[in-house]
Amino acid sequence: MSGKLVMGNWKMNGRLDSNRKLIKAMLEDAHINRDGVAIAAPHAYLMQLSDLLAASPMAIAAQDMSQFGLAGAYTGEVSAGMLHDIGCRYALIGHSERRQYLSETTAVLNQKLINALEAGITPVLCVGETLQQREAGDHLTVIRDQLDILAQLAPTRVIVAYEPIWAIGTGKVATLDQIREMHTCIKQHCRQTHGGAEAVRVLYGGSVKADNADATLAIDNVDGALVGGASLDVESFGIICQAC
Ligand code: PGA
Repeated sequence: MSGKLVMGNWKMNGRLDSNRKLIKAMLEDAHINRDGVAIAAPHAYLMQLSDLLAASPMAIAAQDMSQFGLAGAYTGEVSAGMLHDIGCRYALIGHSERRQYLSETTAVLNQKLINALEAGITPVLCVGETLQQREAGDHLTVIRDQLDILAQLAPTRVIVAYEPIWAIGTGKVATLDQIREMHTCIKQHCRQTHGGAEAVRVLYGGSVKADNADATLAIDNVDGALVGGASLDVESFGIICQAC
């Protein structure tokens, strides 16, 4: 299993000018400008990042992709093949914001996973439970159900990002025990469904910040972090990358 991965998720933020400044500052930080760090930018700016990061080992990621194959009559869609063409190594699939606001279903996510792999992109499947589900004690079952979509896929070709929905953008981080328990459960579940095969890589996401990165990333079965808000601030992001 390769080293830890830190992925910044810019969400729907950025402009040409601010991106240029942010990437310039990232390139000057040796903790960020290295292999094992990726930026998931809006589609509109992926080409800009591809140019700005051409000489850097940092990777580029998409935040989503079309469910409709690799090309065709689907106005407004961006295919996995196009994203691969402009240099994306990873793509987020099923982020909780998309599941919630765009009503992405399991069937849609399944198709996106297939398209990503077919195009040569490593999909990062996001899973997470609501606060209500956790309080009801259903969190492990909910996550196992969300992982069933991976049953037919080779575990070494996908990455899972565990992001408790109640911790995203709220400043509430899951406790170290909660993270440890869930990451163990995810790895065990994937091993079971794949007949004991090598465990899938699992990132943690949800209010990862400079002051909690060390403790979170020191957990044995945390293979990296998916970082939203803090990835827009070079100082915070640098500290998080250093913790890896
Ligand atoms: P956050 O977002 O770090 O701002 O909580 C994480 C994410 O949604 O990927």
